[in-house]
Amino acid sequence: MTKFALAIHGGCGVMAKLDLTEQEWQEARRDLGRALEAGYAILAAGGKAIDAVQAAVVVMEDSPHFNAGHGAALNENGIHELDASIMDGRSLRAGAVAGVRHVKNPIELARLVMDKSPHVFLIGSGAEEFALAQGLTLVPNEYFRTPERERQLERAKQSERAGGAKTSATGTVGAVALDRDGNLAAATSTGGMTNKRHGRVGDSPIIGAGTYARNGVCAVSATGHGEAFIRAVAAYHVCLSVEQRGLTLEQAVREVLHERIGALGARGGIIAIDARGNAVLEFTAEGMFRGCRDSRGRNEVALFRDP
Ligand code: ASP
Repeated sequence: MTKFALAIHGGCGVMAKLDLTEQEWQEARRDLGRALEAGYAILAAGGKAIDAVQAAVVVMEDSPHFNAGHGAALNENGIHELDASIMDGRSLRAGAVAGVRHVKNPIELARLVMDKSPHVFLIGSGAEEFALAQGLTLVPNEYFRTPERERQLERAKQSERAGGAKTSATGTVGAVALDRDGNLAAATSTGGMTNKRHGRVGDSPIIGAGTYARNGVCAVSATGHGEAFIRAVAAYHVCLSVEQRGLTLEQAVREVLHERIGALGARGGIIAIDARGNAVLEFTAEGMFRGCRDSRGRNEVALFRDP
């Protein structure tokens, strides 16, 4: 049987354990299951990895429980600025957007940048003009707001006033997939860090930092403190270690998270799939929303270390 596989994350964070009610966890779990289902159905029908990761991310963008699309984090001015990227490991084509305020599903815009423009990365109003020209659904900025994100912004501002951390991260979404034809793809979408400075861009839309895919090697999507993932060129580093140093996917992911990201004083999570369909879902934060489904029968959703 030809192998195919999909892994997803809904972000990681230290706040997850403190914040989540049983009902919220159940709803998040249900939405992770729906995201897996959406992507897996495409792979099972012989569809492409790039379409599967996009479909899975759209479901999580539409859920209020993750920090992407509806339910995205608020910046210091109480505005949502969204980032996303997608990469096709078959061609090394990629698309990314940053600082968009009105695009309902930023991952769809990243995909259009990849498919319908000669560019890789569009930002702000230029990205939104392109979205308009491409006929994407635009929404008022308030569409992304939820009471929980307002509470998180208030808490982050209190922490800042008390001399603690200014920003907090939790809930970015991502997906990686291997299709029946051996193609790998990765996608990541986020509202970034709560209370981030206006104009701040994290790792999620940066190819090589938050997202990377290369056929024959692996596909990677990251979550966590974006500044550290940018400085560590985290997603690309995982691929490079598998391709050129002969590390297993698990070794490569663990090295980046525990050594490179850890050495920068940061924490986070990485999901990755290699060319044989092995999936690794690893994190150094307290928990990471995650799920994995493959053609060999693996089908799981989890938050903390013990599912
Ligand atoms: N990596 C994201 C960022 O820094 C945040 C997250 O993963 O929650 O924008």
